[in-house]
Amino acid sequence: MAQLERREVLSSNLISVQERIQTACKSAGRNPEEITLVAVTKTYPVSDVEILADLGVKDFGENREQEGREKAMQVPGNWHFQGQIQSNKIASIASWASVVHSLDDAKHVERFARVMPDGKTMKVFIQVALNASEGRGGVLPEFLAEMAELIGSFSQFILRGLMAVAPLGEDPNKAFERLARIHSVFSQQFPDSPALSAGMSHDFESAISHGATHVRIGSSILGSRSNPL
Ligand SMILES: *Cc1c(COP(=O)(O)O)cnc(C)c1O
Repeated sequence: MAQLERREVLSSNLISVQERIQTACKSAGRNPEEITLVAVTKTYPVSDVEILADLGVKDFGENREQEGREKAMQVPGNWHFQGQIQSNKIASIASWASVVHSLDDAKHVERFARVMPDGKTMKVFIQVALNASEGRGGVLPEFLAEMAELIGSFSQFILRGLMAVAPLGEDPNKAFERLARIHSVFSQQFPDSPALSAGMSHDFESAISHGATHVRIGSSILGSRSNPL
C-alpha cells in the first residue's frame, strides 16, 4: 500500500520536473534531449531508487561512498558520484560509479587512475569554484586547463566537462552567468569536453538557461531531506 502511494508521489514529481525541464529548454531555445536528468537519491531508500528505475530513470546521483555503493549494487543504472571526495574512498567509488562530477584535486585524479578496475573508463567532470572564499570545493577557473590536461593524460578517464554548485546566498542567475563565461572559454580549449553539470532543485531552470547539460535534482523528485547533505 505505502509502496503504491510512494510510486504515485515519485511519478508525479518526476513528471513535473520533466515538464519544468521542457519549459526551461523551450524558453532557452534548447533541445530537451541535450539535458540529462540525474535523480539525486541520497538519504532516500533503495526502494525509491527501484521505483524511479521502473519509471524510466537511468541516472542516479549520490554524495556518499557507502550509501551509493549499496544502492548501485541493487539497482543497475548510471551511478553518478557528486559528493566531496575523500582519498581513502576513491577505490570504492571507482568500483561502482560510472560518472564522477566532483573532481577538484590533482591528487585524486592520480589516485583514481591508479585504482580504476581494469578496462573501466570513468566519465568525469571538473568541479569549478564559483566563489573561492566559500570553501565548498572546486578548482579555481585559472587552474581548470591544467586540471583538464592532467585528466587527459590518463586513458582511464573521459573528461565530459565542468560541474558547479551555485554558492549559498548568491542569486543563482549571477553565479551561472559567471559559470557560462568560464564554460565558454573551457569548451573552446577542450572541445571534446563540452558538458556542463549545473542546477539543483531550486535553480535548475536558471542553469538550463546558462547552458547546463546535466541537472542534478533531488528534493523536487524525492521530497525535502531532513538531513541536509
Ligand atoms: C544534494 C545535491 C544535489 C541535489 O540537490 P537538491 O536540492 O535536492 O535537488 C545536487 N548536487 C549536489 C552536488 C548535491 O550535493
